[in-house]
Amino acid sequence: MAAAEKVPVKRYLRLAKLPHIWCPGCGHGIALQALIRAIHSTGLSQDNTVIVSGIGCSSRASGYLDFDTLHTTHGRALAFATGIKVANPDLNVVVITGDGDAAAIGGNHLIHAARRNIGITCVCFNNTIYGMTSGQYSPLTPTDAYATTAPYGNIDTPFDLCELTKAAGASYVARATTYHARLLEKLIAKGLQNDGFSFIEAVVQCPTYFGRKNKLGDAFRMMKLMQERSVPVSKAAAMTAEELAGKIVIGELWHRPRPEYTKAYDAVIAKAGGGR
Ligand code: SF4
Ligand code: MG
Repeated sequence: MAAAEKVPVKRYLRLAKLPHIWCPGCGHGIALQALIRAIHSTGLSQDNTVIVSGIGCSSRASGYLDFDTLHTTHGRALAFATGIKVANPDLNVVVITGDGDAAAIGGNHLIHAARRNIGITCVCFNNTIYGMTSGQYSPLTPTDAYATTAPYGNIDTPFDLCELTKAAGASYVARATTYHARLLEKLIAKGLQNDGFSFIEAVVQCPTYFGRKNKLGDAFRMMKLMQERSVPVSKAAAMTAEELAGKIVIGELWHRPRPEYTKAYDAVIAKAGGGR
C-alpha cells in the first residue's frame, strides 16, 4: 500500500461531524480509533486512501473520517471496494463493515473478495447483533443468545468469519477485541501492509441491544467478559475443541502471502494489448 508523510492523528477525523451517534459505551469508537491509529502508524497517504462502508451502526464510521469515503448500500461495501481497487490499484482501500452487513447481506461479496485475494483491508466490527435496527440476531449471534427476533434463544450456529475468510482464500486474517485495543491496532496495521485481502475481526460490545437482551451488564462488564473469554492464538493451538468452546481466539490467525488480484487483472489487460 502507498505510504506518505505522517500527519497528526486528529487530521484523519472530520471534526465537524462529531460527536458521533453511537450509544454510550458502544465499542465502535474503540475499533475506529484502532483503525485510525493503524493508518497513522503505517503512514498511509490521506489522499490515496479510500474508506468504504456498508449499512449499520459500524458503517457510520466512514462519515467521521477525512479520507475519500463511500457509505454504500447494505452488504455491498466489498463490491464497491472491489470496483475502486480494480479501477485504480494504487489506492489503499479499506472496508468497515459489521457482522450483519458482512456475513448476511454481504456474505457472498466477502467470500469472493477473499477468494480473489484482492488488495483490500476489511475490518469487521462484530457486535454479534443488528444494532441499528433494534437487536435482531445476526449470523454471528452465539447459539442460545437472546435477540429481538430470538426471544427464546438463538437456535442457529454462528459463523466463525476468520475461519470462513481463511478457507475462502484471504492471505491475512486476525482477530482482537475492544479490550485489546492496542493489539487490534497492531493487527490492523499489519493487515494494511499485506498485499492481498486482509480480514480483521474486531469484537466489539453493544450494551444497548446484545448486552441488555442477554443481561450482560454495562460496557465495562462486557469488556471484562471479553478479557476473560479471550485466548491468545499461541495458547489456543494446544487446546481441545471443548476447551475452546465459547472462547475468543485473538491474534494473527493466518498470514500466507499469495498473488494479489489486480496484478493478475492488469496482466490480462496487457495480454489483450491494452494498458491503464
Ligand atoms: Fe453501538 Fe449497539 Fe448502540 Fe449500535 S445499538 S451504537 S452497536 S451500542
Ligand atoms: Mg452488528
